Amino acid sequence: MAAPIKVMILDGESAAAYHNWPVTTAIMKRELEDAGIFDVTVVSAPRSDSSEIASFDPEFQKYQVVVWNYDAPDWPQPLKDKFEAYMKNGGGLVVVHAADNAFPNWPAWNEMNGLGGWRGRDAPAGPRWFYDNGKLTSDAAPGPAGMHGKRLPFRMTTRAPDHPIMRGLPENWMHMGDELYSRLRGPGHNMAVLATAWSDPANKGSGHDEPMLMALTFGKGRIFHTTLGHDAWALSGVGFMTTFQRGTEWAATGRVTQKVPKNFPAADVVSYRADLAAMDPAIAANGK
Ligand code: ZN
Repeated sequence: MAAPIKVMILDGESAAAYHNWPVTTAIMKRELEDAGIFDVTVVSAPRSDSSEIASFDPEFQKYQVVVWNYDAPDWPQPLKDKFEAYMKNGGGLVVVHAADNAFPNWPAWNEMNGLGGWRGRDAPAGPRWFYDNGKLTSDAAPGPAGMHGKRLPFRMTTRAPDHPIMRGLPENWMHMGDELYSRLRGPGHNMAVLATAWSDPANKGSGHDEPMLMALTFGKGRIFHTTLGHDAWALSGVGFMTTFQRGTEWAATGRVTQKVPKNFPAADVVSYRADLAAMDPAIAANGK
């Protein structure tokens, strides 16, 4: 058996108190460990507004991929330089959900993400990107970046069926109730949109097919960006889990060896793991 892929999950901060990162990190760690090919270490950063951040020195180079369950407004320049060099030299990055809200003024971060939202992003961040008539298109008109409605289940549509992350997945599948991000803005360089979802105007949506899963490159580095994953319910979805496991392997190695699970969701029905959702104490207490 090949040596396990060394993964760092980075967490420790979120702009919004309702992003319960200790719980969501634990679920993501379990999902990666269940895949059987990863060796996962959690690194929790000190608050970015504390004096401790100046001496925070995560050893990125010891890992093949860094999963970013982390949303801070800014970092000291040496820390940004260090991560940028790690990525340029062939590192791996997985951006999960609100991680694409982080660092609005760090150009390399925005290049790695392709798209981002909130924290004052507007036209200078880049155009909005979405699918129109089956093609990726952009709109440079000014306006805020980032919006979502109520957390309802929604249908995902595969746009890159031959990408290693997506190979073997159905064209359409149902995702658990989650925040469907829309109106994200960014440079969109070196970015392949792997899957989209229709953003319904009746639920604060844009009326476009919005990018949900993306694969990007930055120097020699690879990035998998999933806008999914607000909370334990969203993370428990087998569609989230499968694309997260496969995206993490691809970001680390450029390949995907994992099989698609038999309980992968169909076009009209969600599929989720109750044991993962119950890792959130609030969900466990409700007994569902
Ligand atoms: Zn969220």
